[in-house]
Amino acid sequence: MNFELTTEQRQLQDAAIRLSQNKLMPILAAHPKSVSLSKPVMLDIFKILAEFGLTGARVPEELGGSGLSMLDYGLVFEQLPPVIALALIAHDGTTSRLCASGVAQDSPQLIEDLLTGKKIACTASTEPTTGSDPRSVKLRIRESDDGKTAFLSGTKQWITNGTIADVAFVTGKLDGNGELQRYLVEHAVSPYTATEIPCIGLQQGHLSELMFDQVPVPLSNAIGNDNSTMKTLTQAWLVNRPLLGLLGLRSAERAKEAALEHVKDRIQFGSVLASKQLMQEALVDIEASIQSARLLCYSALDAADRGVATQALSAMAKRQGVATAEKAASIAMRLCGAMGLAIETGVEQHARDIKMLTIPDGTYEILTLIAGREITGQSAF
Ligand SMILES: Cc1cc2nc3c(=O)[nH]c(=O)nc-3n(C[C@H](O)[C@H](O)[C@H](O)COP(=O)(O)OP(=O)(O)OC[C@H]3O[C@@H](n4cnc5c(N)ncnc54)[C@H](O)[C@@H]3O)c2cc1C
Repeated sequence: MNFELTTEQRQLQDAAIRLSQNKLMPILAAHPKSVSLSKPVMLDIFKILAEFGLTGARVPEELGGSGLSMLDYGLVFEQLPPVIALALIAHDGTTSRLCASGVAQDSPQLIEDLLTGKKIACTASTEPTTGSDPRSVKLRIRESDDGKTAFLSGTKQWITNGTIADVAFVTGKLDGNGELQRYLVEHAVSPYTATEIPCIGLQQGHLSELMFDQVPVPLSNAIGNDNSTMKTLTQAWLVNRPLLGLLGLRSAERAKEAALEHVKDRIQFGSVLASKQLMQEALVDIEASIQSARLLCYSALDAADRGVATQALSAMAKRQGVATAEKAASIAMRLCGAMGLAIETGVEQHARDIKMLTIPDGTYEILTLIAGREITGQSAF
């Protein structure tokens, strides 16, 4: 066991920090903080991510992917601004799902456009009445008798990248036998309506509602339910969860850095707040909890690289990572006093952004039930 990053990993991490600071943050800073970025701006961002090899982080090298290990991906991912990282995880997760289901062979141009950031992808599973229990989706898929077209009807909600996506990976149920079926839906070919859902955090991002009203999709866009597709879907959860844990923890660390700066400077009762024992205890609690949760996330990604990841480990990584981040950011806000609530300090934005990460890819309760099932052998859903 070695807790040191390799020289290559450190270089990768440094490059990700430079990418974030020099290229991505200036784009975000040039636009209003509480308004979704336009599609042209997002395409500029995706082009930059593609140049860094991140749009194909989970795509096999032989299909044009970057061949990053998942641990290395995590080291880069955690350094990205969270609003961009969430857009990326939706995009690259969808791209890898499409590749695993044979779309790379059938539509190489589409995959190339996704890998080069010329097109943006999303995965649409959640619906107004279907959240934690994804098998209960209601979007209807009616396949025409001539075997050429499927008609999609229903609503998808809380879809990352929904309003800017060129391609959606949509799950629904077949009329007749009620079986789950996934479709690749290209917006230009099969137009559906997409609107933004304003939320408390990640406000420059895109969380959307998609409406399908008898939207025609070529039947050839049906995604097979074979083993390879199912394995990739499972693999996506195993990796997404620790990635989101890392993202939350990095935001919490930024909140802690702001709090530390504040308490080193702020004088109350005749001395700087940093000299007070209670302040030091709070900062040590934050630091220790972030460091330990981060190690759990790294270990889940390393397990994925070694092919030994389990649902429980990945669920615990996100559960611990995001819960730790929520608590740490909240304490960091408190340490700043009223300044912690001021928008100019930026700490409250970290706390709001972290809140957004508590829900996708498993809520705290669902992650607990996933890990609990593996530990006890009993399903408590
Ligand atoms: C930032 C963000 C990005 C997202 N991106 C996407 C995306 O790209 N694509 C997509 O398809 N969806 C996406 N989602 C949707 C997300 O996957 C769902 O919101 C999530 O699965 C939870 O579903 P829900 O909100 O309907 O909550 P519900 O399932 O209604 O749950 C409500 C509460 O009940 C709890 N609960 C549920 N079941 C149980 C149980 N058995 N026992 C105990 N407690 C339970 C939950 O933990 C939660 O606290 C995103 C959501 C967010 C916030």
